[in-house]
Amino acid sequence: MIVQAPEKKDFQGIHIVGILDKRFDISIRDGKFQAVKEVTDRPVKEAGEGDGAVTLSEASEWNEAETGEGLWMSPGLIDLHTHLAWTDFDHADQLKREPQEIEAMQAQAFEATLRAGITTARDAGGLAQPTADHILRHYGLPLRVITSNGMFGASDARGIEHLKVRMNEVFASGAGWIKIMATGGLGAPTEKVLEPNFSEQEFAFIVKYAHDHGKKVLVHSWGGVTIDWSIQAGVASVEHGMFLTADQAGRMAAAGVAYVPTASIYRIAADPKGVLALPPLISDRAARAAEAHPRAVEYARREGVLIGFGTDYATPALHGSNLMELDTLREYGLSWEEAWQSATSNAARILDAERQLGAVAEGLLADAVVFRQDPFQAESTRHIQDNIAMVITAREGSLV
Ligand SMILES: [Zn+2]
Repeated sequence: MIVQAPEKKDFQGIHIVGILDKRFDISIRDGKFQAVKEVTDRPVKEAGEGDGAVTLSEASEWNEAETGEGLWMSPGLIDLHTHLAWTDFDHADQLKREPQEIEAMQAQAFEATLRAGITTARDAGGLAQPTADHILRHYGLPLRVITSNGMFGASDARGIEHLKVRMNEVFASGAGWIKIMATGGLGAPTEKVLEPNFSEQEFAFIVKYAHDHGKKVLVHSWGGVTIDWSIQAGVASVEHGMFLTADQAGRMAAAGVAYVPTASIYRIAADPKGVLALPPLISDRAARAAEAHPRAVEYARREGVLIGFGTDYATPALHGSNLMELDTLREYGLSWEEAWQSATSNAARILDAERQLGAVAEGLLADAVVFRQDPFQAESTRHIQDNIAMVITAREGSLV
């Protein structure tokens, strides 16, 4: 169930995910957490003890005040790397579809993402802000979406004047971010994938011009020299980075450049029988990326790089499975707490929105997910998702 901008909602004795052995009384007013108070002066019932826990059918008939016993609240989760406007792995396939069909598929992507507990998404390319606003209004889907619109890649390596024109167009669309495709990806031969798409001068210009216009920069880079350029230029986040070195990780941490590994998508792409069913040439490249990824995540973790949660999911088969990324991050060495932080407090910091998002705390926007079980005790992320009782989103929220 998705509850949009509750005027008034109270939970009594609810847990907050990641905080053991404490319960809280939480009041939401006008889309914000008005009060978050630890329960200290009355005994609280355990889940399953009598009538304490709210069942789904009860939850769907919500009143103003509700018991929170047996329930767990998390700040709404943040996916820092989605592609909500893409309907097909190959863009040529999308162009064969009717506009109405594309819009309906995009709305489905918004809804599936919300139902997975993601309340904020940074779209990493392909979605224009007016389209996001239209879907929000027309379909009533209160996903908070921050866009970067057109991506800057090899075809834009045509000098500073060209970049200026293109970037001005992206700014005018309402994008809050600029996305640089600094290296190749699955489309590039393995021996060439780390080669820069831009000259160092062009790269530095894009970042500076974005910053001069109040925009933040995310950089698709599999590794190599473009990670050094990203650190020097002070971008907000490096995406994928599976060939990151330990030395680069140390410098990223020192410079405050975050890392969004998008780790699970490469494992999915590496499986020729998986939902993407890619040709062997491509799935082989994905397999090599997936092989390198655990080391990059380990370096980042060890050196203290801010790690953010991003899925890079871009097709109907994947939207809504966002929590699978948590499984991969944990397999690559993050604890439950670290993996959860990557999608909450860390992600809010990367968006420069920690005063609005990323925690269940007084004064913050009431974006929240309520679970019927402690997610950290779940056997799998599938199980976590099945135990979502409701997703709450705040009414306000134009974060750009
Ligand atoms: Zn992407």
